[in-house]
Amino acid sequence: MNATVSFATLGVPRIGRRRELKKALESYWSGQSSADDLEKTAREIRAANWREQAALGVTRIPSNDFSLYDHVLDTCAMVGAVPPRYGWRGGRVSLDTYFAMARGSESRGDAGCGHPGHGHGHGEGVGALEMTKWFDTNYHFMVPELSDDQRFALSSTKPVDHFEEAKALGIHTRPALLGPVTFLKLAKTDDAGFDPLALLPGLLAVYEDVLRRLAAAGADWVQIDEPALALDLLPNERDALRFAYDRLVGAAPGLKIMLATYFGPLGDNLGTAASLPVAGLHVDLVRGADELPHVLAAARSDAVLSLGVIDGRNVWRADLGAILDRIEPVVTARGAGLVEIAPSCSLLHVPIDLDLEDALDVDVKGWLAFAVQKIGELSVLSRALGEGRESVAEELGAAQAAIEARRASPRVNDTGVRARIAGLDASAARRKGAFAERRKAQAGRLSLPAFPTTTIGSFPQTSEVRKARSANAKGALSSADYEAFLREETERAVRWQEEIGLDVLVHGEFERNDMVQYFGEQLSGFVFTKHAWVQSYGSRYVRPPIVFGDVSRPEPMTVAWWRYAQSLTTKPMKGMLTGPVTILNWSFVRDDQPRAETCRQIALAIRDEVADLEAAGAAMIQIDEAALREGLPLRRRDWAAYLDWAVECFRLCSSGVADETQIHTHMCYSEFNDIIEAIGAMDADVISIETSRSRMELLGAFETYKYPNEIGPGVYDIHSPRVPATQEMTDLLKLALARLSAGQIWVNPDCGLKTRKWDEVRPALVNMVAAAKELRASA
Ligand code: GLN
Ligand code: ZN
Repeated sequence: MNATVSFATLGVPRIGRRRELKKALESYWSGQSSADDLEKTAREIRAANWREQAALGVTRIPSNDFSLYDHVLDTCAMVGAVPPRYGWRGGRVSLDTYFAMARGSESRGDAGCGHPGHGHGHGEGVGALEMTKWFDTNYHFMVPELSDDQRFALSSTKPVDHFEEAKALGIHTRPALLGPVTFLKLAKTDDAGFDPLALLPGLLAVYEDVLRRLAAAGADWVQIDEPALALDLLPNERDALRFAYDRLVGAAPGLKIMLATYFGPLGDNLGTAASLPVAGLHVDLVRGADELPHVLAAARSDAVLSLGVIDGRNVWRADLGAILDRIEPVVTARGAGLVEIAPSCSLLHVPIDLDLEDALDVDVKGWLAFAVQKIGELSVLSRALGEGRESVAEELGAAQAAIEARRASPRVNDTGVRARIAGLDASAARRKGAFAERRKAQAGRLSLPAFPTTTIGSFPQTSEVRKARSANAKGALSSADYEAFLREETERAVRWQEEIGLDVLVHGEFERNDMVQYFGEQLSGFVFTKHAWVQSYGSRYVRPPIVFGDVSRPEPMTVAWWRYAQSLTTKPMKGMLTGPVTILNWSFVRDDQPRAETCRQIALAIRDEVADLEAAGAAMIQIDEAALREGLPLRRRDWAAYLDWAVECFRLCSSGVADETQIHTHMCYSEFNDIIEAIGAMDADVISIETSRSRMELLGAFETYKYPNEIGPGVYDIHSPRVPATQEMTDLLKLALARLSAGQIWVNPDCGLKTRKWDEVRPALVNMVAAAKELRASA
């Protein structure tokens, strides 16, 4: 019989089972409660997390994985990376300074399009740090802002404080720190020519101090996360890792480092990772499943290997038998003392506890595992490794039964959908006519002026709209009354658009809770949860849809609303849909077939909706792909394969229509230069993009690449409450004219207007229409 095999969690959700942290933060920010109240809630969440993990038998319980807002921001506070505009004079970083970096110091206009990462910190007062996606997750971190003469100093002892806090509860933890090299790689500097890695020696001094303090407090292990190892690294970045860990291993004799990598295989960074002098190495064996033999061959024989075998990024029960088949030989070969098991990455990215879901479809529920259940799976694996599979025969049997039930379920397998995919040929993803022919056909049908004006889809989701929706959901407002209310809102928006002279109208999306959820709720193959929140950023949490089975569209989803809106006007009314890639990228996706396959199914469902809108008379249909770029793989060499199927899926959903039906798409990220050809290959007749914040700099992409179709470079920055003057927008349009031809250009805002107020939107769009008219007159 083997000795026991340790198991870790690498980090657990920190929002509280019932979103206690969100409530405490928002109440503190609004001045309704004190810093002490906030700290009390935070302590309770930490204690509950530690106790729960202890009760579940976790051997390596993390501390310092808790954060009030973001762990990268915590690291900024720890090392004193506070930009001068916050007026910090050294010493401990206060709660106010911390939240000023997170949210800006006063009213900020970071509304964006309702999804994070699309604009942040445009308010009055001191702006927040920038925010961006954490690797390829839907978690967003605050981007460290460093200067080339940056000094670092220990400015928060949170890692030590939390270690002591757990210790006082009788729980021995393994503190988790964000690694110095990843921290610098994620940072930005105002001087583009300056490489933040030059700051490494100074930064390491602070880390050494922290490690010494942790050791003095009684820590024997520390977990240091370097997910940058899953990225393409330059030689100097690999050197930096060697330099950093040579120093850190000597910082506190007796304190061992578990270096954690995750979010992908190590690939060409394996040699570097395996040669670092650290006592332990954690690898992601979910995304890097094929890499295990190479890791075993490369790992130092005296290092503890932490095998990340449970998916920390998704919500499915694991195939425990298959995992044991893979890792039992590792334990036999290395000995139990040199192996640990863990999730692939911190459990931050999955919901907390499946047991909270009392209304979830029972079949699907049986196939899922959230953080608590995943810890349970690790416990079973650990016992199987230590005491033999017989000791957990029942649990292994249950896991096996769940896998088999899922595989065989008619809920998952829809032969109609499969036959349809199998029967597709290349023509399904190709419009009938080339763009030039389509353009002619569409011009004949639509007779639009030059520089046509439109908006991206949503109008302000006012508190009345949200109140009515939640009253309806709670049963306090009848569906008939809710519907009548939405009709009124829609009619008002349509009348107003006519009045100010927009050329192409939208219905306003008042009936939609969210651009993905609205569709997911009407598609087969999706389920939604009640409590399965995951942190998106700060106090903003999302409940992603779960795609569990083959996807199809039982009934039209948007046609009735479109028909009603079009009946109010003779101007063209755009049909408004969310694209397959965006629906995929903002959901938890089934893991039993390639993502591309699931995306294709969603594309066909949307294609059906496109066909129905066209049949109902829609001359224009917009299919938003807000998240297309977000899905880019971490490694460059994987980009082409992703873009191939992502673009194909967009074409699949949009190509069933006649030449005279105009397909629009919208994308709301600001960096598309490196994928512009893929965007061109989507072959939408019209695309609207974000450009106004960078003063059309983004159109630089069009210097070398001639965008073939029509394009609306956003002229109104909807991320800010500011109302742009007409002149500003004509100036932007003139800049666009330097790169694009007059016949190509549409005039529209950057993104949807749902987060803005009518008082801002009204004058801004009036000015925008005036700008288009000026351009027409001068052209
Ligand atoms: N049509 C959507 C809207 O206007 C698009 C939003 C988005 O792309 N994020 O709200
Ligand atoms: Zn957008």
